[in-house]
Amino acid sequence: MNVASTIVPEALRIPQKPRLVGMDRPALAAAAIAAGELPSKGKMRASQLFHWLYFRGARSYDDMTTISKETRGRLADIYGIGREDIARAQVSEDGTRKWLVRLADGALIETVYIPDDDRATLCVSSQVGCTLTCRFCHTGTQPWVRNLTPAEIIGQVMLARDELNEWPSEPEGRMITNIVLMGMGEPLYNYDNVVAALHLMMDNEGIAISRRRITVSTAGVVPMIGKLGDETGAALAISLHATRDEVRDEIVPLNKKYPIAALMDACRNYPGSANSRRITFEYVMLKGINDSVQDAKELVQLIAGIPAKVNLIPFNPWPGSPYECSDADSIAKFVEVVNRAGYSSPIRTPRGRDILAACGQLKSDSLRAKKARSTEATA
Ligand code: SAH
Repeated sequence: MNVASTIVPEALRIPQKPRLVGMDRPALAAAAIAAGELPSKGKMRASQLFHWLYFRGARSYDDMTTISKETRGRLADIYGIGREDIARAQVSEDGTRKWLVRLADGALIETVYIPDDDRATLCVSSQVGCTLTCRFCHTGTQPWVRNLTPAEIIGQVMLARDELNEWPSEPEGRMITNIVLMGMGEPLYNYDNVVAALHLMMDNEGIAISRRRITVSTAGVVPMIGKLGDETGAALAISLHATRDEVRDEIVPLNKKYPIAALMDACRNYPGSANSRRITFEYVMLKGINDSVQDAKELVQLIAGIPAKVNLIPFNPWPGSPYECSDADSIAKFVEVVNRAGYSSPIRTPRGRDILAACGQLKSDSLRAKKARSTEATA
């Protein structure tokens, strides 16, 4: 379980070429022109590059046979098209896969692939670490390092597709059918980069995953919620986890800034929400904290009038975690109240626990690596 490095000091970094991956059409056109293309041909080159990168998943300029060798050569002099490195790939006994991805500066993030009977979801990270300090979340115990770039966000989808042999991006028979921004980080605190990456994922001429199949999960950055809906049409998930401010203040400290009432207003006004497009309320079951029948009743009152589904997440423990998972009986009683009120409330089966890939368990390896590094530094 040792991971070679976390952040590589500036002085030791090998300069990286800028990469085409992560660019949208206007940026690709500008890149082609910067590499000597005639301005009048910029748009056409951009569509070709877009196709090769995001529809075919090209990892080498040699693949780009519709573009002349000379143009490819000029592009290659300036821009890279490679992927990030996979520092480690793990497969759970339930088929879940977790990739530890090493970014160009050595920072590590995790991406998780969760296959189900009729679909498979890719869980993507948006930041290295997290600024929120949700008390039940392992990622929250680690310092925030930085935001991911659009390239690093879309790059996780592309890397997963490489690993699953899923190019070109045909609509039929897909392995990755859904994407959730539920990995490390708070997506709405990296808003611009997340939105740029979402647009690339959704583009019909590229990876083409429908906005209906892409879910952004937030702990409740209220001012950005409506904007996200307007600008992307992505599905929304809210990490609610408590029904009263005094409890939520404690377990999701962001609540002190954006309390439950404001969060619910943002949900009520979420653009495009309807019965066919429900908001998911995630609710982690913490023994003795938020799992009583009274809590369940308050939950259904709180979300009354919002097209919603409730996703109950059994708490996934991690080393040193201050909580325990609710017992099966409390979960069953909680579910009954929610179901009786007419909400579907699937219990999220913990996936990939054996490889610490389940909700709230991510980034543990990097923490260990960091610890190892600081031990080395003081040794
Ligand atoms: N910051 C965003 C994205 C992370 S999503 C957000 O908070 O929504 C990850 C989901 O897993 C969130 O709902 C989070 O609250 C939940 N989670 C975190 N730690 C968990 C744990 N130990 N067990 C179960 N779920 C957890």
